[in-house]
Amino acid sequence: MAKVLCVLYPDPVSGYPTEYARDGLPRLDHYPGGQTVPSPEKIDFMPGALLGSVTGELGLRGYLESLGHELVVTSDKEGPDSEFERHLPDAEIVISQPFWPAYLTPERLAKAPLLKLAITAGIGSDHVDLSAAIAHRVTVAEVTYSNSISVSEHVVMMILALVRNYLPSHQWVRDGGWNIADCAARSYDLEGMDVGTVAAGRIGLAVLRRLRPFDVRLHYYDRHRLPAEVEEELNLTWHDSVESMAAVCDVVTINCPLHPETEGMFGDALIGAMKRGAYLVNTARGKICDREAIVRALESGHLAGYAGDVWYPQPAPADHPWRTMPHHGMTPHISGTTLTAQARYAAGTREILESYFQGRPLRDEYLIVDSGALAGTGQHSYSAR
Ligand code: NDP
Repeated sequence: MAKVLCVLYPDPVSGYPTEYARDGLPRLDHYPGGQTVPSPEKIDFMPGALLGSVTGELGLRGYLESLGHELVVTSDKEGPDSEFERHLPDAEIVISQPFWPAYLTPERLAKAPLLKLAITAGIGSDHVDLSAAIAHRVTVAEVTYSNSISVSEHVVMMILALVRNYLPSHQWVRDGGWNIADCAARSYDLEGMDVGTVAAGRIGLAVLRRLRPFDVRLHYYDRHRLPAEVEEELNLTWHDSVESMAAVCDVVTINCPLHPETEGMFGDALIGAMKRGAYLVNTARGKICDREAIVRALESGHLAGYAGDVWYPQPAPADHPWRTMPHHGMTPHISGTTLTAQARYAAGTREILESYFQGRPLRDEYLIVDSGALAGTGQHSYSAR
């Protein structure tokens, strides 16, 4: 019987919820483009419940234990004495979410001889060293599309929050003030601006679609060009390099995976080539941006604002400079873990487990690494060292 090791974020400080703000979730059957939402044989959780924290257990315990498997759920993931490392040597399956990633480094993979499957409950498997997973023939799978739209909504929110100076203005209200000039002195309209996305995959394209009604000029940079009819419908300008796009945009949003080609992409050189007063929104991965270069650009005023929800490492230490740099709109890594998204990726995780235990192939679109090579979505969107 298999040991399934699941790393989830801690419960709320106020305790695991006993009631919720809303009574249910909208029902969706398909994602844009036609891919069906996760379709396990059964789920044992209430959609809309908090599933991503330790007590929520992604709704998996009943299912796994009914098959005689052992489920270990912990949030204790760092260091050799962590519960994660203690259970890793005899784990067959590891599950974690990018919000609270169980980093699977080459050293850790070497300590996990029984490991067959690493599941990302969500999207983005950069917390797994893919080259090492390839070498150890560990299958890496994620729940492709499960939270892409969730993130795209967050990106639009953050762009508007930065450009319109929402967060400092809200703070004046909380502090008892009515300081209109302080609020207005950094507030602009988005209308008429040039907005570009690095990558027009599931999230990037959804961001472009959502921004179209704002009457902005839309740009994208991607290794593969979108179909001509999509470019025409959204009036998109494609760039063959990130430098070309960054130089003309007032707002840049980053929506590519973190892999060797994208790590450190936004450093001093690329940021220096952006317009003075540009805004940068990164909900992709923290390491795509050079940490210190972002701080320098905000302090000098070259960037007017930076927002996002992704950091390195996660959780970010208390003294991480992105917590205190000027003109930022950072949140913890939350954009893809709305209760809505959790219901989908918990169901997708269950679907992957059902396939695995029944000896059926996983959906091709869920695969990142399989049989010792990049596969499925991984083959299209990632690169290995
Ligand atoms: P997709 O796989 O649909 O899209 C990724 C896109 O990135 C593809 O179009 C791919 O291009 C493009 N890309 C890859 N490498 C490069 C590169 N070097 N330069 C330009 N474009 C590149 O994934 P999603 O849109 O669903 O997700 C994207 C990323 O967002 C995830 O990998 C994850 O890191 C992050 N994410 C963050 C979440 C959060 O909560 N903050 C939640 C979900 C995802 P092509 O395939 O055409 O080569």
